[in-house]
Amino acid sequence: SDVLLEVKDLHVSFAAYGGEVQAVRGVSLTLRRGETLAIVGESGCGKSVTARSLMRLLPPHTSKIKQGTIRFQGRELTGLTEKQMREIRGSAITMIFQDAMTALNPTITIGEQIMEGIIRHQKLSRSEARKRAVEMLELVGISNPESRLKQHLHQFSGGMRQRIMIAIAAVGKPSVLIADEPTTALDVTIQAQILDLFKLLQRKTGVSILMITHDLGVVANIADRVNVMYAGKVVESGSVDEVFQHPQHPYTKGLLASMPRLDSDRGTPLQSIPGTPPDLFAPPKGCAFAARCPHAMEVCAVFQPETSYLPGGHGVACWLQDARAKPVDPPGTNTF
Ligand code: SF4
Ligand code: MG
Repeated sequence: SDVLLEVKDLHVSFAAYGGEVQAVRGVSLTLRRGETLAIVGESGCGKSVTARSLMRLLPPHTSKIKQGTIRFQGRELTGLTEKQMREIRGSAITMIFQDAMTALNPTITIGEQIMEGIIRHQKLSRSEARKRAVEMLELVGISNPESRLKQHLHQFSGGMRQRIMIAIAAVGKPSVLIADEPTTALDVTIQAQILDLFKLLQRKTGVSILMITHDLGVVANIADRVNVMYAGKVVESGSVDEVFQHPQHPYTKGLLASMPRLDSDRGTPLQSIPGTPPDLFAPPKGCAFAARCPHAMEVCAVFQPETSYLPGGHGVACWLQDARAKPVDPPGTNTF
């Protein structure tokens, strides 16, 4: 099948004083061969925790996968030992982060860091690995690769560091690349160049990309499909075209309304969603967005909405999509 990675009903919690924070509360997603899937949402929505769970890169003593399955090429990952996981992490699934200075080792030359993974996982000789490292630097757009290999991270600009991190993540020809806010720290021009690099890499290698971002502009630029997360759940999912042109969930609509547009008047203030996300130490019983939702009905505060599917695989977790829900508020108090 063309499904590479399939997550079903993932729940992840963190230990907190007197209880637990339910950071991820039933996330399902599928990543297909050669596509880019974005997970988008505000900070604290559980998107990074979801990504790190796939790699099992969460703090082992304070976090726990409570429930759910993670299948990669048909193989269940949740039960693997740390040693088995390390094999997968270094080769088949790799990850890129926002800040190369903390994700990579600033005391080791970038050449050594690119070569390390391929020597370990592909059993190449040093000279073969060196050749591959040079090719990778060329591919990610770093000139004079031979001499650059001997340099350290601090000798590169922010954008160049992200290119190096991509080279390290891609050198072993992974089938999945997970990128957690890889362009967030960069200015707009450099950001666009890095997104172009992801696309180039995907064209050349067929790698599937899971892009974690808070930025709908990044989603529009790079993703084929998108999962919108709110308070530890996926509230809307589908193709980027479908979700951006016909958003159904009130949260997605709010996010899109607050997205800066290149074609808009600079003077027009952006609409932002009033209120704040709920505390996941004690998540609401019903829809987590109810307190901020202009369409909330009585049922929303009591029962969690299930995901309904519209044509084309467009998923929406909202009572507005559910024929069983009837607006029961007094007339005029909602715009249902
Ligand atoms: Fe709003 Fe209810 Fe839909 Fe939640 S389920 S987004 S509160 S209408
Ligand atoms: Mg994050």
